[in-house]
Amino acid sequence: MAWDFSTEPEFQKKLDWVADFCENEIEPLDLVFPYAVRSKDPKIKALVDPLKQQVKDQGLWALFLDEELGGPGFGQLKLALINEILGKYGSAPAIFGTAAPDTGNMEMLAAYGTEEQKERWLYPLMNQEIWSAYSMTEPQGGSDPNLFKTTAVKDGDEWVINGEKWFTSAGRAADILFVMCTNGMFVVPRDTPGVEIQPFPSTHNHIIYKDVRVPLDHLLGPEDGAKVLAQRRLGGGRIHHAMRTIAQCKKAFDMMCERALSRESHGKIIAEHQMVQEAIADSYAEINMLRLLVLWTAWTIDNSSTQEARRQIAACKYTMAKVLKEVSFRALHIMGSLGTTNLTPLQAMYAGAPTMGLADGADEVHKVTVARSVLKDYRPHEGLWPTEYIPAKRAKAREKYADLFASDPDLLKYADAMEKYMASRGH
Ligand SMILES: Cc1cc2nc3c(=O)[nH]c(=O)nc-3n(C[C@H](O)[C@H](O)[C@H](O)COP(=O)(O)OP(=O)(O)OC[C@H]3O[C@@H](n4cnc5c(N)ncnc54)[C@H](O)[C@@H]3O)c2cc1C
Repeated sequence: MAWDFSTEPEFQKKLDWVADFCENEIEPLDLVFPYAVRSKDPKIKALVDPLKQQVKDQGLWALFLDEELGGPGFGQLKLALINEILGKYGSAPAIFGTAAPDTGNMEMLAAYGTEEQKERWLYPLMNQEIWSAYSMTEPQGGSDPNLFKTTAVKDGDEWVINGEKWFTSAGRAADILFVMCTNGMFVVPRDTPGVEIQPFPSTHNHIIYKDVRVPLDHLLGPEDGAKVLAQRRLGGGRIHHAMRTIAQCKKAFDMMCERALSRESHGKIIAEHQMVQEAIADSYAEINMLRLLVLWTAWTIDNSSTQEARRQIAACKYTMAKVLKEVSFRALHIMGSLGTTNLTPLQAMYAGAPTMGLADGADEVHKVTVARSVLKDYRPHEGLWPTEYIPAKRAKAREKYADLFASDPDLLKYADAMEKYMASRGH
């Protein structure tokens, strides 16, 4: 029987190690030295690098990459189980070498880079010796790639890029930028003249590319291949976000349950009030629905490809924001006034829900993808009646018994009586 929801004992040991390491090493670092993972200060690096080394020693570095690319080659299902832990801790993805936006960019490089491009950018990215960002969205609109205008023009042995990008996450800190142009995907070192990072927004950057010149070999993949590369990049990224969102939902749920058992009101522990129980029961079911959807999608990717799992990935994408919104809202509410402060992570989690609905594409666009793809499996019915129209189905079923009715009038009478009885009951 292939439908098995158990975890191999050997892998469970890895999961236990990850949970323990995150709780006892990463969480204290996050609380006392926030943003340490991105610091270039040697004293801070001396705190972070040994943690990364421990992850490498466990064979858990760059989890999302196949073995031949230097990752452990666990596949997406195992990655999902690990991300369900990492997603609870701000800097855990970076300490495990699985942080966005680098992961998606590495996937693109791994799939489309030449050997020389991999040497130059992929391996340093894998070792986190350099950082990257992804410049796709433009100020005039992100949901519709047909509105993008940034272009590269060949001039001798260089490409000259002109355009404007919006919401390039961590662009300011990146060493290289993956710039989606109308005619291809380009790798642009951030310090190239003409890369102008605007002061706002501070984290997700507005970047003007003005006569930016890069050598011809900075084109990644084929000319005009930008949309294909973008799909490859974003498909993986979306499912990874969904895996980490499960972690956020579980964390909110744990906080909700702990609090429900700890507070008293109107003569009872609040967990004994039915509306609180409803919040817990609904959250439990919704988290597990999301989790099963994500794990099934991860399994599908492992057994086919990201492309084959496109419909499922899109469904994960818009479901995660919805579940995070519902569960974090309920947890925040049950926490009472404390939940509305920034003294617990719940405020940030709840604020994160709309972000998840937009990052990697607005949910509506993914719903369109799912609906269109699902409808390809259906055909319109012939004639006036839907396939499940009972009178038509019954008439057809009676044809099957025509010989029997001809040979046994009692059975015909019985069938007629039953038809009348069913009609009287509205069937
Ligand atoms: C935290 C975060 C990080 C991000 N990081 C990056 C990054 O690193 N690089 C990058 O390039 N981009 C990044 N983005 C941008 C992201 O890809 C865009 O926000 C997204 O594609 C939507 O584009 P937009 O913001 O221009 O909204 P619009 O395209 O203007 O859409 C606004 C709204 O219009 C509606 N809408 C749009 N299209 C449809 C439709 N077809 N059907 C129904 N309704 C529709 C939806 O309600 C949608 O939310 C990031 C976004 C966030 C929030």
